Amino acid sequence: MIVMKFGGSSVESAAAIDRVVSIVEARLERRPVVVVSAMGKTTNRLLECAHLAVAGEREKALGKLAELRAFHHAEAPEVKGEVDAHFAELAELLRGMSVLGELTPRSIDAISSYGERMSSLAVTAAFSRRGIAAEHVDARELIITDDRHSQAAPLYAETYERLAARVPQLAARAVVVMGGFIGSTKAGVTSTLGRGGSDFSAAIVGAGIGAEEIQIWTDVDGMLTCDPRVLAGGRRVRVISFAEAAELAYFGAKVLHPSTVLPAVEKEIPVLILNSRRPDVEGTRIVAEGVPSENPIKSIACKRDITAVSIKSTRMLMAHGFLRRIFEVFDRHETPVDMVTTSEVSVSLTVDNTARIEGIVEELRAFAEVHVETGRALVALVGEGLGERKGIAGRAFHALNGINVRMISQGASMLNLSFVLADDDVVKAVGLLHAEFFTELDPRVFEVAA
Ligand code: ADP
Ligand code: ASP
Ligand code: MG
Repeated sequence: MIVMKFGGSSVESAAAIDRVVSIVEARLERRPVVVVSAMGKTTNRLLECAHLAVAGEREKALGKLAELRAFHHAEAPEVKGEVDAHFAELAELLRGMSVLGELTPRSIDAISSYGERMSSLAVTAAFSRRGIAAEHVDARELIITDDRHSQAAPLYAETYERLAARVPQLAARAVVVMGGFIGSTKAGVTSTLGRGGSDFSAAIVGAGIGAEEIQIWTDVDGMLTCDPRVLAGGRRVRVISFAEAAELAYFGAKVLHPSTVLPAVEKEIPVLILNSRRPDVEGTRIVAEGVPSENPIKSIACKRDITAVSIKSTRMLMAHGFLRRIFEVFDRHETPVDMVTTSEVSVSLTVDNTARIEGIVEELRAFAEVHVETGRALVALVGEGLGERKGIAGRAFHALNGINVRMISQGASMLNLSFVLADDDVVKAVGLLHAEFFTELDPRVFEVAA
């Protein structure tokens, strides 16, 4: 069995779904289990509707919902009946939300789950139309999570047990199709694994059924040497280690959800990133052991528009417990910290999620001077063994000459060297670093021909 996951853009239209069917059809003998995202930008649209509804813009919310229904009718006409039933429920939910005027993580999950519930039905129908036996499974019956809604974690034992009990026997006679991203709590309440979570679903399913491979089909040729939204002209990385892929994902390479790698590593299942528009390109293979490479850096990742917080102890001497107090504040506000640098009396750190930054700053000010800088970006050079090679930092700084670097960190994993700089400088910085580290490419690891 193999797991084939298709992201939003790979199922964004009837034509895209047709390509999916052809890609899967060519691999039927490997007994594919297909995991799909919501069609196109459906998840964003559903969340927009929810936000409008709670903001008292009920009619506008219902209007947007009608547009989304029309989109599903146009691109997935075979499942019109089911789609209509789902949209009737969605309209009810939005009306309820507009009365309550409150958006809870649980209701966000209820709303956003509909995208994958409908796309998985549409894809199943497309297989049937093409004469390929297909079996739809509601992912919520198989992926069981804790109740941290909108950021739920799978309960692995229960989930693996259910997957193993249901999926292999179905896959023996049909293409199994299920929605990514969604699950349910033990109490049966719909939950989601967080934005971009369909990759994670694919890895969980792969681990649960002991798949021989997990294929992540998306809209790029694989992991590229830089984020294509920041800099065009990046080369495909042919093979990358799990550790490198996880590090890149963590630092913003959206092509793979960071949590995806863990279940795959634990069961030693190779993961492939492939392009559903160019299925013949060999993609990127993610493997357990790093491959030797002449190039110390495999790729450059960026997290844009982040916030840097500098915290300076207001006491003359730094008392012990300063760091602990700082991190307790972030912890209480459930806000992850991405990068940290410290000196004896000051700490600088970056956060991506600033939803609770005001409360955080207020608490920090009780014992420290706090300075918040918005409009920053984190740029990370990632490569296994980077920490042991001489001269990498020197080359990076030389390349970045003229750009104001605000923070520098070399992760303890020795896998990344990262910089914080002004978001306005990101494109230039990535261009300079890319030219420095990827002008010559080791053909064992990178696609060399343009
Ligand atoms: P999907 O809908 O298939 O899950 P995503 O949008 O989540 O696709 O991820 C694919 C996108 O990731 C690409 O279109 C690209 O813009 C972005 N991306 C960021 N960094 C990289 C990188 N280093 N290599 C490839 N793609 C990247
Ligand atoms: N549809 C979900 C999202 O947009 C999950 C995914 O596509 O991976 O976040
Ligand atoms: Mg994605």
